Amino acid sequence: MERTLSLIKPDAVGRQQIGAVINVLEQGGLRLVGAKLLRLSRAQAEGFYAVHRERPFFGALCTFMCSGPIVALVLEGPNAIQRNRELMGPTDPAKAPAGTLRQLFGTSIERNAVHGSDGPDTARTEIAYFFSASELNGLA
Ligand code: ATP
Ligand code: MG
Repeated sequence: MERTLSLIKPDAVGRQQIGAVINVLEQGGLRLVGAKLLRLSRAQAEGFYAVHRERPFFGALCTFMCSGPIVALVLEGPNAIQRNRELMGPTDPAKAPAGTLRQLFGTSIERNAVHGSDGPDTARTEIAYFFSASELNGLA
Protein backbone atom coordinates (compact mmCIF):
# COMPACT_ATOMS: atom_id res chain seq x y z
CA MET A 1 0.00 0.00 0.00
CA GLU A 2 1.32 3.44 -0.97
CA ARG A 3 0.22 7.07 -0.83
CA THR A 4 0.69 9.92 -3.28
CA LEU A 5 -0.29 13.58 -3.62
CA SER A 6 -2.53 14.73 -6.45
CA LEU A 7 -3.39 18.35 -7.22
CA ILE A 8 -6.30 19.37 -9.42
CA LYS A 9 -4.88 22.56 -10.91
CA PRO A 10 -6.71 25.93 -11.30
CA ASP A 11 -7.63 25.26 -14.96
CA ALA A 12 -9.62 22.10 -14.16
CA VAL A 13 -11.14 23.54 -10.96
CA GLY A 14 -12.22 26.65 -12.89
CA ARG A 15 -13.90 24.50 -15.52
CA GLN A 16 -15.85 22.58 -12.85
CA GLN A 17 -14.03 19.33 -13.55
CA ILE A 18 -13.25 18.38 -9.92
CA GLY A 19 -15.83 15.60 -9.83
CA ALA A 20 -14.82 14.25 -13.24
CA VAL A 21 -11.14 14.10 -12.22
CA ILE A 22 -11.92 12.36 -8.93
CA ASN A 23 -14.14 9.91 -10.80
CA VAL A 24 -11.23 8.84 -13.03
CA LEU A 25 -8.95 8.45 -10.00
CA GLU A 26 -11.48 6.41 -8.01
CA GLN A 27 -12.50 4.26 -10.97
CA GLY A 28 -8.78 3.78 -11.62
CA GLY A 29 -8.41 2.01 -8.29
CA LEU A 30 -7.18 4.80 -6.01
CA ARG A 31 -8.85 5.66 -2.69
CA LEU A 32 -9.12 9.21 -1.34
CA VAL A 33 -7.72 9.49 2.18
CA GLY A 34 -7.35 13.31 2.20
CA ALA A 35 -8.95 16.21 0.33
CA LYS A 36 -9.05 20.02 0.54
CA LEU A 37 -9.92 22.99 -1.68
CA LEU A 38 -7.51 25.90 -1.26
CA ARG A 39 -5.84 28.78 -3.05
CA LEU A 40 -2.05 28.89 -3.02
CA SER A 41 -0.20 32.09 -2.21
CA ARG A 42 2.66 32.98 -4.55
CA ALA A 43 5.13 31.86 -1.87
CA GLN A 44 3.35 28.51 -1.45
CA ALA A 45 3.37 27.89 -5.22
CA GLU A 46 7.08 28.78 -5.43
CA GLY A 47 7.84 26.51 -2.49
CA PHE A 48 5.90 23.61 -3.93
CA TYR A 49 7.66 23.84 -7.31
CA ALA A 50 11.06 24.89 -5.89
CA VAL A 51 12.76 22.02 -7.77
CA HIS A 52 11.88 23.85 -11.02
CA ARG A 53 13.20 27.24 -9.79
CA GLU A 54 15.82 27.52 -12.57
CA ARG A 55 13.52 26.43 -15.41
CA PRO A 56 12.35 29.09 -17.91
CA PHE A 57 8.68 28.25 -17.23
CA PHE A 58 8.94 28.62 -13.42
CA GLY A 59 7.49 32.14 -13.14
CA ALA A 60 4.54 31.43 -15.43
CA LEU A 61 3.90 28.09 -13.71
CA CYS A 62 3.70 29.77 -10.28
CA THR A 63 1.43 32.53 -11.64
CA PHE A 64 -0.86 29.84 -13.07
CA MET A 65 -0.84 27.72 -9.89
CA CYS A 66 -1.99 30.62 -7.72
CA SER A 67 -4.47 32.03 -10.29
CA GLY A 68 -7.42 30.27 -8.66
CA PRO A 69 -8.35 27.50 -6.24
CA ILE A 70 -6.83 24.03 -6.45
CA VAL A 71 -7.86 20.73 -4.90
CA ALA A 72 -5.22 18.76 -2.98
CA LEU A 73 -5.86 15.03 -2.67
CA VAL A 74 -4.05 12.20 -0.94
CA LEU A 75 -4.57 8.96 -2.86
CA GLU A 76 -3.90 5.48 -1.51
CA GLY A 77 -3.57 2.11 -3.23
CA PRO A 78 -1.11 -0.50 -4.43
CA ASN A 79 1.64 1.35 -6.35
CA ALA A 80 -0.39 4.55 -5.96
CA ILE A 81 2.42 6.83 -7.21
CA GLN A 82 2.87 4.96 -10.49
CA ARG A 83 -0.85 4.29 -10.88
CA ASN A 84 -1.70 7.99 -10.48
CA ARG A 85 0.91 8.95 -13.08
CA GLU A 86 -0.54 6.39 -15.52
CA LEU A 87 -4.00 7.85 -15.00
CA MET A 88 -2.60 11.41 -15.50
CA GLY A 89 -0.66 10.76 -18.70
CA PRO A 90 2.48 12.66 -19.75
CA THR A 91 3.12 16.35 -18.99
CA ASP A 92 2.03 17.52 -22.46
CA PRO A 93 -1.71 16.88 -23.04
CA ALA A 94 -1.07 16.72 -26.80
CA LYS A 95 0.99 13.56 -26.18
CA ALA A 96 -1.35 12.01 -23.60
CA PRO A 97 -3.16 8.74 -24.45
CA ALA A 98 -6.95 8.78 -24.78
CA GLY A 99 -8.74 8.57 -21.45
CA THR A 100 -5.89 9.98 -19.36
CA LEU A 101 -6.62 13.00 -17.16
CA ARG A 102 -4.35 15.29 -19.13
CA GLN A 103 -5.84 14.20 -22.46
CA LEU A 104 -9.36 14.68 -21.10
CA PHE A 105 -8.86 17.94 -19.18
CA GLY A 106 -5.48 19.50 -20.04
CA THR A 107 -5.18 22.26 -22.65
CA SER A 108 -1.41 22.97 -22.80
CA ILE A 109 1.89 21.75 -21.36
CA GLU A 110 1.45 24.31 -18.56
CA ARG A 111 -2.32 24.05 -18.09
CA ASN A 112 -2.34 20.29 -17.79
CA ALA A 113 -5.12 19.86 -15.20
CA VAL A 114 -3.34 17.74 -12.59
CA HIS A 115 -0.13 17.21 -10.66
CA GLY A 116 1.09 13.91 -9.24
CA SER A 117 4.08 13.08 -7.05
CA ASP A 118 6.88 11.42 -9.02
CA GLY A 119 8.45 9.14 -6.37
CA PRO A 120 8.25 7.97 -2.74
CA ASP A 121 10.35 10.83 -1.35
CA THR A 122 8.45 13.57 -3.19
CA ALA A 123 5.14 11.91 -2.26
CA ARG A 124 6.04 12.08 1.43
CA THR A 125 7.23 15.70 1.20
CA GLU A 126 4.31 16.85 -0.94
CA ILE A 127 1.67 15.19 1.26
CA ALA A 128 3.21 16.93 4.28
CA TYR A 129 3.16 20.25 2.36
CA PHE A 130 -0.66 20.19 2.43
CA PHE A 131 -1.80 17.79 5.15
CA SER A 132 -1.11 16.98 8.78
CA ALA A 133 -1.43 13.32 9.81
CA SER A 134 -4.65 14.13 11.64
CA GLU A 135 -6.26 15.35 8.40
CA LEU A 136 -5.94 11.98 6.63
CA ASN A 137 -8.32 9.02 6.65
CA GLY A 138 -11.25 11.23 7.60
CA LEU A 139 -9.89 11.63 11.12
CA ALA A 140 -9.88 15.44 11.30
P1 ATP B 1 3.62 17.69 -12.25
O1 ATP B 1 4.90 17.87 -11.50
O2 ATP B 1 2.74 18.92 -12.26
O3 ATP B 1 2.89 16.45 -11.86
P2 ATP B 1 5.10 16.59 -14.41
O4 ATP B 1 5.85 15.84 -13.38
O5 ATP B 1 4.51 15.82 -15.55
O6 ATP B 1 3.95 17.44 -13.79
P3 ATP B 1 7.25 18.50 -14.42
O7 ATP B 1 8.39 18.34 -15.35
O8 ATP B 1 7.43 18.15 -12.98
O9 ATP B 1 6.00 17.72 -15.04
O10 ATP B 1 6.75 20.01 -14.53
C1 ATP B 1 5.90 20.56 -13.54
C2 ATP B 1 4.83 21.37 -14.21
O11 ATP B 1 5.44 22.47 -14.86
C3 ATP B 1 4.06 20.66 -15.31
O12 ATP B 1 3.00 19.88 -14.85
C4 ATP B 1 3.56 21.82 -16.14
O13 ATP B 1 2.41 22.44 -15.53
C5 ATP B 1 4.73 22.80 -16.05
N1 ATP B 1 5.65 22.63 -17.18
C6 ATP B 1 6.52 21.59 -17.38
N2 ATP B 1 7.21 21.76 -18.52
C7 ATP B 1 6.78 22.93 -19.06
C8 ATP B 1 7.09 23.66 -20.25
N3 ATP B 1 8.01 23.24 -21.11
N4 ATP B 1 6.41 24.83 -20.46
C9 ATP B 1 5.50 25.28 -19.59
N5 ATP B 1 5.15 24.63 -18.46
C10 ATP B 1 5.77 23.48 -18.20
MG1 MG C 1 6.68 16.77 -11.64
